[in-house]
Amino acid sequence: MTEELFRDDANLFKCEATVVAIDDEGLVLDRSVFYPLGGGQAGDAGVLVAADSGAELAIVDTRKHKARAGDIAHVPAAGADLAAFAPGTRVVARIDGARRQAHRRFHTATHLLCALVPHPVDGCSITAGYARLDFHMAEPLDREALSAGIARLVAEAHPVHQRSISEAELDANPQLVRSMRVQPPRSESGQGRVRVIAIEGVDEQPCGGTHVDNTAEIGDVVVTKIEKKSAMTRRVVLGFAEPAAGRG
Ligand SMILES: [Zn+2]
Repeated sequence: MTEELFRDDANLFKCEATVVAIDDEGLVLDRSVFYPLGGGQAGDAGVLVAADSGAELAIVDTRKHKARAGDIAHVPAAGADLAAFAPGTRVVARIDGARRQAHRRFHTATHLLCALVPHPVDGCSITAGYARLDFHMAEPLDREALSAGIARLVAEAHPVHQRSISEAELDANPQLVRSMRVQPPRSESGQGRVRVIAIEGVDEQPCGGTHVDNTAEIGDVVVTKIEKKSAMTRRVVLGFAEPAAGRG
């Protein structure tokens, strides 16, 4: 199984690793800082640099390996030359830091939305350009009020922590789970641990994604659109605010 370095430290942008396998899905490393698509959050992109030859390989996406449970597939650009990256090759794996930062900012902002909109979440997508969260609710939402709510929580600079709780603790606190369809991963024994993301004084929920360390880092994220997707679904779309100069 790929050692998932991004779980404990979302600030870690590079690591040394060894290529374990290459197949149709991509390159598998023994350890990685690349977050694989999951929990609504897009996968990381970046580059692998072979330690000996210096050869570089662009990675355009990261996925959970379908055929190898627990492994992460680093997806190379179509048609890339993989000759310098045979299994056993030592590499430095480095993510696209700007893309990761955008994911972290938007992802943490979706947790703020959960605090502002006390309804179950029915879907979520986080990319480097926007994020969207679907709430299961019939009432209308006010775009400007939500943007102001996010701005207030960003300005208040709440620290963001992660901790792990037991599955029994999670069972005793079902309100922690905000998502209607996606339950936190469970161990077969029922004795496992679940990672919880806590934004001090604001929100707490199980989550495996990458987040900022303080809500101040979210910066200028605003609600760009609210859509009524169905009678019982309100979709909230987040984007980065345009620079003030661009508004005249
Ligand atoms: Zn999260």
